[in-house]
Amino acid sequence: MKAVQPGRRPGAELHATLLNRHWLSSTAFEIELTKPRLFDFIPGQRIAVSHRGKERDYSLISAPADKSLGLCVKRVEEGVVSPFLAEAEAGTPLYFTGPHGYFTFKPSQRHPVFVATGTGIAPFLSMARSGVKGFTLLHGVRDPSELYYEPYLRSASGRYIPCVTQRGGEKDLFPGRVTQALEERMLRKPYDFYLSGRREMIRDVVFLVDDLFPGSLVYLESFT
Ligand SMILES: Cc1cc2nc3c(=O)[nH]c(=O)nc-3n(C[C@H](O)[C@H](O)[C@H](O)COP(=O)(O)OP(=O)(O)OC[C@H]3O[C@@H](n4cnc5c(N)ncnc54)[C@H](O)[C@@H]3O)c2cc1C
Repeated sequence: MKAVQPGRRPGAELHATLLNRHWLSSTAFEIELTKPRLFDFIPGQRIAVSHRGKERDYSLISAPADKSLGLCVKRVEEGVVSPFLAEAEAGTPLYFTGPHGYFTFKPSQRHPVFVATGTGIAPFLSMARSGVKGFTLLHGVRDPSELYYEPYLRSASGRYIPCVTQRGGEKDLFPGRVTQALEERMLRKPYDFYLSGRREMIRDVVFLVDDLFPGSLVYLESFT
């Protein structure tokens, strides 16, 4: 399924304006952009932002019905586009193409399990804000300060398992990686897995699903 873009060439460059920035942790931030006229998307899709001749993908965190577009971005030191997004002032013009991608929610008889690392949480926010309910969500981070949107996701999901590798023992936090949490906390049965974030996490979870949850479907969105 693809969002219909009436009157717009696929891949055409669009123009938006940066409205504001809100830091979520020492390295990650959310930005709000104006939504170009006629721009539509399906939750889970992304846009490709251009800066100095480079193009980088960012998943939308807003819902299609929202008046503006939202992104959740990790600042990569030595990077090209993420430092620009981290520093640009309100009013700065931004250029992008999209929407791109097929990492969208497909309802089925199997229970949906969303697994994210870091800012890989972005497509799941858009899905939740668009009315997807009842999913299990595992969010893997190093430090509890990186559990972006925790209160909202705790209430929007059917089950929320925050997985923290550098500290642990705090109430409600699973001390370890998402793979360990899947092994220890999930009933052995088929699920629809949606994996978003670091390539290494995706690879490890795919192996685990083959071993422990045969009959499952796996959808992937690799950020690296
Ligand atoms: C499908 C898809 C969706 C994505 N969605 C998001 C999103 O919603 N939010 C988001 O923050 N990012 C997202 N990304 C990653 C994003 O597209 C960029 O790769 C990232 O922002 C780095 O771009 P840059 O220009 O700042 O750094 P680059 O110039 O690309 O990289 C600079 C250096 O940092 C390294 N590097 C690149 N990324 C990382 C990283 N994450 N951690 C550590 N080192 C890194 C590179 O190998 C390189 O050596 C997504 C990527 C894909 C493919």
